[in-house]
Amino acid sequence: MREPWAMRAPDGLGTAFSTPPAKAVAAGRERGEGNRLAQTLLAHVPLAVAVIDAELRLSFWNQQAAILFGAVSGRAAGLPRLADILKGIETLTPVQRDRITAFAASHIASGDRTEPDGSLRVSLGRDRRIVIQIRGIGLQRWMVQFFDGKMALAAGLTEGSRDNGDAWLDALTGLSNRRHFNQILHRLVDDAAADATAALVMIDLDRFKRVNDTLGHPAGDALLCLVAQRMRREIREDDVLVRLGGDEFVILLPRGERAEILAARLVDVLSSPFLVEGQVVNIGASAGVAYFPEHGPSADDFVRHADLALYDAKSAGGGTVRRFDPAMAEEASARRDLETDLRKALALGEFSLAYQAQLNVKNQTLTGFEALLRWNHPVRGIVPPAVFIPVAEEIGCIVALGEWVLRSACHEAARWPEPLSLAVNVSARQLEDSERLFSVVQAALVASGLPAERLELEVTESSLLAKDTHVVDTLHRLRAAGIRITMDDFGTGYSSLSQLRSFPFSKIKIDRSFIAGLGSDAQSTAVIRAIAAFGAGLGMTTIAEGVETAQQAALVEADGCTDIQGYLISRPIPASEIDALLRQHPAGTETTSIAG
Ligand code: C2E
Ligand code: MG
Ligand code: MG
Repeated sequence: MREPWAMRAPDGLGTAFSTPPAKAVAAGRERGEGNRLAQTLLAHVPLAVAVIDAELRLSFWNQQAAILFGAVSGRAAGLPRLADILKGIETLTPVQRDRITAFAASHIASGDRTEPDGSLRVSLGRDRRIVIQIRGIGLQRWMVQFFDGKMALAAGLTEGSRDNGDAWLDALTGLSNRRHFNQILHRLVDDAAADATAALVMIDLDRFKRVNDTLGHPAGDALLCLVAQRMRREIREDDVLVRLGGDEFVILLPRGERAEILAARLVDVLSSPFLVEGQVVNIGASAGVAYFPEHGPSADDFVRHADLALYDAKSAGGGTVRRFDPAMAEEASARRDLETDLRKALALGEFSLAYQAQLNVKNQTLTGFEALLRWNHPVRGIVPPAVFIPVAEEIGCIVALGEWVLRSACHEAARWPEPLSLAVNVSARQLEDSERLFSVVQAALVASGLPAERLELEVTESSLLAKDTHVVDTLHRLRAAGIRITMDDFGTGYSSLSQLRSFPFSKIKIDRSFIAGLGSDAQSTAVIRAIAAFGAGLGMTTIAEGVETAQQAALVEADGCTDIQGYLISRPIPASEIDALLRQHPAGTETTSIAG
């Protein structure tokens, strides 16, 4: 059998066609790029396209076709038949389906003698119709094109009804687009009867970016189409399902009573796995719900409030539904103020650094200090990093701020006696831009004269987990330049001990929640012991953070940790107090070997 030149199995179909025969694979590899290009192109044409054989079986269809056909069940084996696939277009009557299959069969029987514009028009209810055309593409294959009135209109393609080129459908998914949404929403708000209740369900996919980053944009697009298809199945006829852009969707329910039930249902259906280009993909969704007129009264407020509810659902970790609450609006405005202040703070010099000592328990000598950011705002006072760092990460100013930290801390550390080292926290956002981080680190070292071997960068588990391999490449580059990397807050994320092996960390920092649990909770002891033993085996330093009491220090030492950090040794202190601390605790040579 000839390998289908591009294959896509709609959601719910078997993988029978994602495994081409071996010979075809070799040939396919040569044409690989052409195929990918063809796939991408076909994914973007606002046309449903399918390829059929002489038996009217489909060997290929693009995303638009998958959407048009909707769910197809009972296709466990073999290629699906056109007649069966057409059943997925719910508004087609059996007579219309027969007309379409007969049209295809007669075209094939005619040996392609039918004129290309010999097309079939089928009406799909009130103001929608599809136009079907077939043409031979050689090798006993025929391309069937379905001009869906709605899709084609989106691209300004068809039938003189262009509406001045206005596109009101999303070209990728065939759903309504933002423009259409605004139009309907305003109409609804303007014409609302006094007793009307409407609702908005705002949906945002969780972990979608990861799919795009790891599987590529065509796969991301395919996933969005499958998402659209699943959502379509859940809504009622008078609900309007809209793709606002990216991975954001909204459903406008003219009768709002069911909104929260629908939202929960959507979050649920979008959390089951998808099959994208032969790969199982797990995402999830978050939803925010707002009601009209309660959360209006203007269209803008209605949307903004649904958005705030969505933001709340996202902040709670995703996979959940939130209904708008006026407290959310207050929080949002407080947050905006914080963002504004944060943007100004760097220019106004409101940040400073505190340094917290790290001690080697065996020698009882200091090994170095961790630099910790402090923000002293003239009105707010001291703002804790736990409050402003996540905001700085979200608005992106963490990158500039992190660079300031690196430069200032290296400058300070260069005057410390050898071999004291400096630990600097690096945000996930900084790791994303490998080139920039690398050059900023180099520049900070050169400008300060601090040797690379005395600098450690602390990264958190989550920043490694969420990213693709290029973050790990960045770390390897830094490591090759002599800079050590520490896994911070270990035990709080989802990584396993074996993942620690994937990168030559020099140090594992055991999260302070385990140290706080010592004595009262047997699991903490077990975790600390396991990590310490693992670190020792790989020649990594294991440091316990948040050690506050002598008893905790004794316990973590007994459990095998080599180093400690915490209020017991010192709180984070200003640079000016470092010399005094060093007089109390001498600096020593590190005894543990360094991996990598
Ligand atoms: P972290 O990197 O895990 O830093 C340790 C945190 O634990 C610090 O909180 C420190 O003050 C606190 N701590 C240390 N010893 C003890 C103890 O014995 N008991 C208790 N209860 N707490 C202790 P801090 O300074 O509030 O920083 C919080 C987090 O903010 C840091 O956690 C780090 O993730 C982030 N952060 C701080 N500075 C920076 C920075 O320059 N860049 C980035 N990206 N993040 C930073
Ligand atoms: Mg840290
Ligand atoms: Mg930590």
